[in-house]
Amino acid sequence: MSDSLETLHDLFVHELKDLYSAENQLIKALPKMSQAAQSPELKRAFDTHLRETKEQVRRLEQVFKALGEKPGGKTCKAMQGLVEEGEELLEEDADPDVMDAALIVTAQKVEHYEIASYGSVCTFGRVLGYDQATEILKETMAEEERTDKLLTGIAEKLNVQAKTADEADESESSEDRSEAMTDRPMNRTSSSGNARGNAGGNQRGRTSTSRSKGSSGGNPGGSRKRSTARARR
Ligand code: FE
Ligand code: FE
Ligand code: FE
Repeated sequence: MSDSLETLHDLFVHELKDLYSAENQLIKALPKMSQAAQSPELKRAFDTHLRETKEQVRRLEQVFKALGEKPGGKTCKAMQGLVEEGEELLEEDADPDVMDAALIVTAQKVEHYEIASYGSVCTFGRVLGYDQATEILKETMAEEERTDKLLTGIAEKLNVQAKTADEADESESSEDRSEAMTDRPMNRTSSSGNARGNAGGNQRGRTSTSRSKGSSGGNPGGSRKRSTARARR
């Protein structure tokens, strides 16, 4: 049985518990997102927000204490869903730049959920006259909003970079592209990644049992060349 919601105070506590669950889920999710990010700036944003999120959990505990309530006992299903969607994306075989864009989408959905929730509890707290709790919650609200804006800024830059990289795909001449762009995967067939120091020729020593599954007509023309067609003028 869930707690009954007879008063605004009940709803306030209900929402705080939901947020407490949400923030704790994010403490687990953010390190994975940071790890999956290619852009150093995006990684940094996730790492910073992980530290903030831990502090946000502490703030919520402070609020519960002030209210004489306990934080646990609820699971935010919305955050579960958002995290799950994010995890699905992480499993995709994506271009690193596109993956960064996907991570930002996921993160912004999360921030917007939090902003909606914190906005509401701040209002409830104010209406209920819980001034101290409201001040504490406002701090978190400001962090969520800042994070959302930061992500928007990063997204704008990354999208431009990704597009530039796309256009310059053939001529690898541009040198001052940010580190973030350097390691685009190139459909190599070799599975051993450390191609460096392999200066003297590709020893393709053992013919790796080429499983010729091609014949069964599954995927016609396995290497789908993205035609860089400068299309018709
Ligand atoms: Fe948060
Ligand atoms: Fe929720
Ligand atoms: Fe957040």
